[in-house]
Amino acid sequence: MDIHSEKIINQQLDRAIRNLRLHQFETSILEKKEHVLPFLEAQIEQGSSVAVGGSMTLAACGVIDWLRTGHVSFIDRYQPGIDVNEAFRRGLSADVFLMSSNAVTLEGELVNTDGTGNRVSALIFGPKKVYVVVGINKLVFTREEAQERIRQKAAPMNCERLDRDTPCRLVGECVDCNVAQRICSANVVLSRSHVPGRIHIVFVKEALGY
Ligand code: SF4
Repeated sequence: MDIHSEKIINQQLDRAIRNLRLHQFETSILEKKEHVLPFLEAQIEQGSSVAVGGSMTLAACGVIDWLRTGHVSFIDRYQPGIDVNEAFRRGLSADVFLMSSNAVTLEGELVNTDGTGNRVSALIFGPKKVYVVVGINKLVFTREEAQERIRQKAAPMNCERLDRDTPCRLVGECVDCNVAQRICSANVVLSRSHVPGRIHIVFVKEALGY
């Protein structure tokens, strides 16, 4: 990142962090995706039960591979043959839940759209601690911009990744479909961590995920 872009990004991050802290979220900033794993290793107690929300960001940071090393008790939703819904239910009572967010507003809110809803459910209630790893590309000014980001980028790109039979893959943006394979069911704006510090937003100053 050049110094001019970095100055503006830092101003935006400062504003987001100020507002997130006002809303009782905990926050950290990491310079690179390579710093995510050491950060989480230091934060998560050995033997903790850990579940994850679907996330390209966590995979890109090597988190999923690390979770499988035995350091923690990983509720591995990706394990072949696993009952995924049962894994989702167990994830709701995990010690730790890891996820990214579709968007974070400078006003200090998390904005997410889920299909099954396991990710936003765990974010709101259940796991004792939630870490939300967010690339700088997810930072937006307003809720409206967050929804646009989801409709124009996150959801269509996830449909493409998951090979869903949805019209957004054909036209390149959301058309608010009602087809069987739609992945958008729960649109959630989380404006506060009800338990102070339960939700920890970890910004990474690189583009990560959709
Ligand atoms: S509502 Fe339908 S068209 Fe819109 S992003 Fe979701 S799956 Fe795609």
